Amino acid sequence: MSKKKLATYWFAGCSGCHMSLLDIDERILDVAKLADIVKSPVVDGKDIDQVDITLVEGAVSMTEHVEEAHHIRKHSKIVVSFGDCALTANVPSMRNAITKESALAQAYINLPSNDNPGKVLPSKGISPLLDRVRPLHEVIPVDFVIPGCPPSADLIFYVLNELLNDRTPSLEKGRLKYG
Ligand code: SF4
Repeated sequence: MSKKKLATYWFAGCSGCHMSLLDIDERILDVAKLADIVKSPVVDGKDIDQVDITLVEGAVSMTEHVEEAHHIRKHSKIVVSFGDCALTANVPSMRNAITKESALAQAYINLPSNDNPGKVLPSKGISPLLDRVRPLHEVIPVDFVIPGCPPSADLIFYVLNELLNDRTPSLEKGRLKYG
């Protein structure tokens, strides 16, 4: 079996799912036997050409995420919602209770810790926010999910190992065996 290409992305999330991925510890060597990680926040970032599996952590919160999600879908055979933020929008969707203008003002102007004497929003460097934070499957079709906040390292490894061996993971089995 030839080596697969694996990518991971980080949208609106806390990176806890990626930390849990690193918690698979020495089992990363099993993953490395089966796949090359061609793009990820935890390796040198490259653009993806055509990859077998892409894990997406985080909710879709900005225009940039929408564009990246479509890019991922176009270039990935299998797309996985990686963690509850991708799966349900989870914590980032708390901002759906207020307007995006209020969220930006709170983040960049109102917080006492901000060093922003002019009380103005940054004019560049921020992709436009969506009106509503969305789970990944509302933007692109998703093939598999890895639930949890964060998902356990055992569940992540179980799903990855199944996919990398051309098997279909059973989340029920994964939870029973590893959760
Ligand atoms: Fe962080 Fe939990 Fe969201 Fe993962 S699912 S990015 S751990 S808040």
